[in-house]
Amino acid sequence: MRERPGQTGMVPIPWAGNDAAIVQNSQGANIMCASYNDACHARIPLMTTSASLTTDPVALAQALIRCRSVTPDEGGALTLLQSLLEPAGFQCHRLPFSAPGTPDVDNLYARFGALGTNGPHLCFAGHTDVVPPGDEKAWTHPPFAGVVENGVLWGRGAIDMKGAIACFAVAALRFIASRNGKIPGAISFLITGDEEGPSINGTAKVLDWMKDNGERMDACIVGEPSSLDTFGDELKIGRRGSLNGELIVLGKQGHAAYPRTAENPVPKLARMIDRLSSAPLDKGTENFEPSSLEVTVISVNNAATNVIPSEARAKLNIRYNDLWTRPKVEAHVRAICEATAAELGARWQLTFSGTGDVFRTKPGPLVDTMSGAAKSITGLTPRMSTGGGTSDARFIHFYCPVIEFGLLNRTIHQVDEHCDIVDLHRLVDVYGAFLERYFG
Ligand SMILES: [Zn+2]
Repeated sequence: MRERPGQTGMVPIPWAGNDAAIVQNSQGANIMCASYNDACHARIPLMTTSASLTTDPVALAQALIRCRSVTPDEGGALTLLQSLLEPAGFQCHRLPFSAPGTPDVDNLYARFGALGTNGPHLCFAGHTDVVPPGDEKAWTHPPFAGVVENGVLWGRGAIDMKGAIACFAVAALRFIASRNGKIPGAISFLITGDEEGPSINGTAKVLDWMKDNGERMDACIVGEPSSLDTFGDELKIGRRGSLNGELIVLGKQGHAAYPRTAENPVPKLARMIDRLSSAPLDKGTENFEPSSLEVTVISVNNAATNVIPSEARAKLNIRYNDLWTRPKVEAHVRAICEATAAELGARWQLTFSGTGDVFRTKPGPLVDTMSGAAKSITGLTPRMSTGGGTSDARFIHFYCPVIEFGLLNRTIHQVDEHCDIVDLHRLVDVYGAFLERYFG
């Protein structure tokens, strides 16, 4: 614990790690900071003890929400988690990464149990970073207050995905305690602070670090909010690929009254994106929704109505299923552009970016174990889904089978993100049932 000038009443908290402190706020009340850096907004009432954080998923989710960890800020969230896992016997590694042109990001890898013994290594992957709250005044309760009211937990990250991290932490600590600290294998947490951002200094680099350090996984659960209409109705076993494209049509600038001396790229771009948007990619497959191409941005850098601009741009996002590979999608889009541009006599450029290729985890023990664990708690057999956007599972599937199971995704990224308390308790129970079955 560090002293901080101008702060009074600081008391060390043995379980809360080196950075934590109890301080007095401006009203003179004692509050706790999970991590004492300037980015920290973790304010936990003094009555919250380490015991309740490790046993009560609601208290832990609240404490995590109170860490203002908008990407790329750590906000005290990883420190809080580490402060609970380390005393329980987890070997913790903080893994800050950086890359040119992207913000530095902190990550946490924590493992309980030895590798390379007879038992398997199960990893739980998640992210403590959250998307910005938007207009904080539009929220029913402040987005980083972690308010519980009438059986509902409110706050940014309640569902995506501090709630699920809290649930798995409580389930894992309970499971380890029930086995007197001896589990047949290893349990780890791969928690990143860069899932909602560029995803460059996060999970992908932690996985590289794990490989370099001999940390081999046998299976992975990602705690993304997978449920659609009721808790536990879906289990994600794959994701469509995601690819971004930028199309630029080049013209020649000139006076709008003298179009013969200029070349207007705007109508040509409009025709090209119309052609791209109106050709369906496919009708879907047994395991995947239809692929889609959406034009998401059209931009012309021109403010004058009497000037024909020199270029016009459009951005595309393509979600593709297992009928496609990234090179196949790129070739397809390029062919449509080529054919249309030839008809119009357009000069154009097309570039692609994006990291997530399509993947599906095959039926097998991991999928069956989670499906059975969920049914034992909810009474529902979850549908196997590959819908929705992309997640860090797109990096993990190269290393081991991966599934995603978490809370209801109805209010993710919205003002007033919230989840039912009862779902948090049920998610702890599902993860607990999974651990019992997985480790036999
Ligand atoms: Zn998420």
